[in-house]
Amino acid sequence: MSKILIIAEHLDGKLNSSTARCVSAASAIKPEAIDILVLAADAAGVAAEAAKIDGVSKVLTLDRAENAHALAAVFAPQIVAVAGSGYSHVFAPSTTFGKDLMPRVAALLGVAQVSDIMTVESAHTFQRPIYAGNAIITVEAPADSTVIATIRTASWPAAANGLATAPIEAASADVSLPSHTRFIDLAQGKSDRPDLQGASKVVSGGRALGSSENFEIIYKLADKLGAAVGASRAAVDAGYVPSDLQVGQTGKIISPELYFAIGISGAIQHLTGIKDAGTIVAINKDAEAPIFEVADFGLVGDLFKIVPELEAAL
Ligand code: FAD
Repeated sequence: MSKILIIAEHLDGKLNSSTARCVSAASAIKPEAIDILVLAADAAGVAAEAAKIDGVSKVLTLDRAENAHALAAVFAPQIVAVAGSGYSHVFAPSTTFGKDLMPRVAALLGVAQVSDIMTVESAHTFQRPIYAGNAIITVEAPADSTVIATIRTASWPAAANGLATAPIEAASADVSLPSHTRFIDLAQGKSDRPDLQGASKVVSGGRALGSSENFEIIYKLADKLGAAVGASRAAVDAGYVPSDLQVGQTGKIISPELYFAIGISGAIQHLTGIKDAGTIVAINKDAEAPIFEVADFGLVGDLFKIVPELEAAL
């Protein structure tokens, strides 16, 4: 039987919803137990949040001062120590956090990581995207070693909070931690808008916006809708918006319920990022633009006329 350990992603004392998405993926294996491990300087608040997720058997905490910041080099040996107590699988989200962390865990265990799991076929057989999402491959991990994997968060809904609360226990990991990697600073964009990766609505703008000043109409529409703001790579490369707004193959993979692509042509590398979006609305002056092939609703026309009208109507 499988026993799955999920590494909680959290920041500023708040659990990231990617952890509940990993629980959904873990549940698909129908394991004997799904435990969440919280590494932090003070794990209590995050552990209490994690304990509410439906399907979680128990929450383990590793409180130590060195865990104040998510340093992969520091977390990895502790995770390996906890995983050694009978876990068949260790999962983390395929976010910047998980992509940084899990290769180190896999390397310490001497196994190959399974990345970006989008479908579970069995406890050791999974599907994952390759070639920027243009093909799906089925991979099988050896049954005699621990499965170290990242979960493609856009492919899994967040497990809901259940009625019960899972028990919280302090774990122990008696390992010496490396001192060659130290936390200096965390530089991140500050925004009052919803987080792009977790938002249920996203409004994205492309090269057609023409300038950062013009991009304001995207922000205005997004604020009217309570949506996060995204962008194509062309808009990022042109300097209209910061790079953390980029959606696509080399940007963020997102799964909002509602996605607006405004002045975006629909290049394959952009579409890779919105494969799991619910309803797609495209606004483009070119009726032949490829974005209309994937859009549920399309408006052909000049965005500088349509977007303000739409915003006023809303
Ligand atoms: P364009 O392709 O120039 O499209 C602009 C669109 O706006 C056109 O369809 C045009 O008809 C329309 N338009 C112009 N004026 C108006 C107007 N007034 N009103 C309405 N519509 C108007 N791209 C990404 O987005 N994300 C990625 O992660 C990404 N990764 C990449 C990785 C690699 C390895 C490579 C090679 C490319 C990658 N790209 C990525 C780039 C991608 O190929 C496209 O170049 C890019 O997505 C184009 O951005 P765009 O649609 O904004 O611009």
